[in-house]
Amino acid sequence: MSLLVKIYEAWDEDVAVDFWTAAQRRIATNILLAHQGTEFLLKSKISEISPFLLISREPSQWPKNCTERDVDFSEFRTVDAQDLIKISNTVSTKLSHEFIKQYDLARTLRNSIAHTIKKDLKLTAKEVLVYVLESANEFVIGSNWFELRREWAGREIESVLAYDSDYSSVLAKEAAIAISELNSSQIERYFGLSKKRRRYNCPNCVYSYKWGVLENAKTAVLEPNTPISQKIYCFVCGKTTEVIRKDCGFDRCKSNVIWQHKDLCLTCMNGEAD
Ligand SMILES: [Zn+2]
Ligand SMILES: [Zn+2]
Repeated sequence: MSLLVKIYEAWDEDVAVDFWTAAQRRIATNILLAHQGTEFLLKSKISEISPFLLISREPSQWPKNCTERDVDFSEFRTVDAQDLIKISNTVSTKLSHEFIKQYDLARTLRNSIAHTIKKDLKLTAKEVLVYVLESANEFVIGSNWFELRREWAGREIESVLAYDSDYSSVLAKEAAIAISELNSSQIERYFGLSKKRRRYNCPNCVYSYKWGVLENAKTAVLEPNTPISQKIYCFVCGKTTEVIRKDCGFDRCKSNVIWQHKDLCLTCMNGEAD
């Protein structure tokens, strides 16, 4: 996401090719980490049935004296990553086809990154994004991805220096970028949202009482989705904000969703915010 944010901020066709070439090593590291993370999630799913399913090899090849002493689980050789899907689907609920497809794709990439020096490998940040979202969708059932992301962001080094509202706006910006990168069915699948639905700025995410408008990143939808609806719901922060319906009219803006509190148009972000 941080790479995508950078390229969106500095959007320039001329630098894009050089930018993504320079980013290859970092994206490769991200794929390795994302794949390792998914392996842990798969192993944890299998462990719910029994952790012993993860031990590979014959008993004759188990750690020395394992019948005589307490042996740490990590001393056993565990099954290969390529067998995890088979084990999981045999002993536990079936994994979705979409996840299996993404997992195999990431595993192949991981192998070519880890074991060969393939010069023609062209990795994109979007590949990692889709893989992470697919894994979260598969294993962290019923979760809002942005909630997980916020929790993670709170543990980042930079967040020590940031105000709360700052990383709300960073998350909103990331969400807006993710939406423009993904296709309709991915947005529906990962965020439960229709790409066609009109979106508005969420005051809770992008407005700071101290700094004013922080970002133009539309992450809220009318709830319910009707012309007279007076509430918007933000899928990033999960908050509902009351709005009034009156024409904005600023510089031919056709929106009529206004945050009365600051008389701010939540489409063009013009109004009497201060
Ligand atoms: Zn929000
Ligand atoms: Zn407007």
